[in-house]
Amino acid sequence: MDRSTGFRGYLPVASAGYHKCVTEPSVPAENSLPIVADTRPPAVVETALPVAETAAPHGETALPVLCGRNRRELETWLVGLKEPAYRGRQIAAWIYQRGARAFAEMTDLPAALRARLRESAVLGRAEVEARQRAVDGTVKLLLRFVDGRAVETVLLPYEDRTSVCISSQVGCPVGCVFCATAMLGFARNLTAGEMVDQVLAARSHAPGERVSHVVVMGMGEPLLNYDPLVTALRLLHEEVGLSYRHLTVSTAGHVPGMRRLAHEGLPVTLAVSLHAPNDALRERLIPMARKWNLEVVMDAAEEYSVQTGRRVTLEYLVLGGVNDGQDQAKELAKLARGSFHHVNLIPWNPATTLEHFRSPRPERLKKFREALEERGVTVTQRVERGQEIDAACGQLALVAAHGEERLVRIA
Ligand code: SF4
Repeated sequence: MDRSTGFRGYLPVASAGYHKCVTEPSVPAENSLPIVADTRPPAVVETALPVAETAAPHGETALPVLCGRNRRELETWLVGLKEPAYRGRQIAAWIYQRGARAFAEMTDLPAALRARLRESAVLGRAEVEARQRAVDGTVKLLLRFVDGRAVETVLLPYEDRTSVCISSQVGCPVGCVFCATAMLGFARNLTAGEMVDQVLAARSHAPGERVSHVVVMGMGEPLLNYDPLVTALRLLHEEVGLSYRHLTVSTAGHVPGMRRLAHEGLPVTLAVSLHAPNDALRERLIPMARKWNLEVVMDAAEEYSVQTGRRVTLEYLVLGGVNDGQDQAKELAKLARGSFHHVNLIPWNPATTLEHFRSPRPERLKKFREALEERGVTVTQRVERGQEIDAACGQLALVAAHGEERLVRIA
């Protein structure tokens, strides 16, 4: 290894890890689940939810999961149970507006209906197993689902907004060499309800219990879990009440997903992880880059911007001594010039689990930024948050997986 760069010798050779990122996960898509599971009690048999999803694949029960359904689906389901449709709207409000974690909390429903719901369905809220809070207000949650799998969610309060960073998969198949999540491997996709649940869980820790922005930038490559992702985005807008413009999907550069999302009709923000100004370096950092090079990624980003009228954010993780040189700034400026996008610099957040990378030196980072701006690139720089907690993607789950004592057990 070359300690001066903290880089060479730690990166995988050409074939290592590559297979993980170029194929879609083999986990069945949410929408392929049976609408009616055989083991459901009689009360539910004739009242299948209109979109197929039960807890069976990811948990021990085969009852329908309600978190992840919109109010129309819940109305239809309640009508099937011979209940008035407005009960569906009430349940939707309890889940998405008031963050109910149990049917018992739904006190404006008749006791008999609450009892029936307990027998007929599962609310589908994950257990908040661990929580870390930083002095700057950043809160990191470890949520455990009914099948025992866990993901991370981060709440980021700022002066003018409160963001939640959610995960889209348990682990990740992409295998970026700088990422703690990649060290966990890939377990499964999350359902739409599990993605929305993270926002609800984080909201209860937010100032005033309000969240304004959501970024799908936690564990996983969201565009490898496309249909549940789009369902979750719609739920966050229609049921939770967030503006589409305040929802951001972050991809490592999954080009087919970028192009599909461009035509989805959702004006969400797209963030694309570049992290390198040329293919040679990018392929060493993000194995998926060997399948879709910078030229096709930038083409897809431009298509997204043209179709949606939204500027694309080009994420650039600044790794000290790796990608923060002046020549690299010039290369990046050539790529990023134009009005379709802007560059967001993310200084490396040192992680105890990934000691072979280091933060950029402040003066080097400043020169890098100036070199971009001098060449007409619009640049933002992410404020570092939650430094004293395991705030980088996958770190808390990694700590949990290794049974370390630093977690604050709250459940
Ligand atoms: S950085 Fe994102 S895409 Fe890459 S391995 Fe980590 S979670 Fe997956």
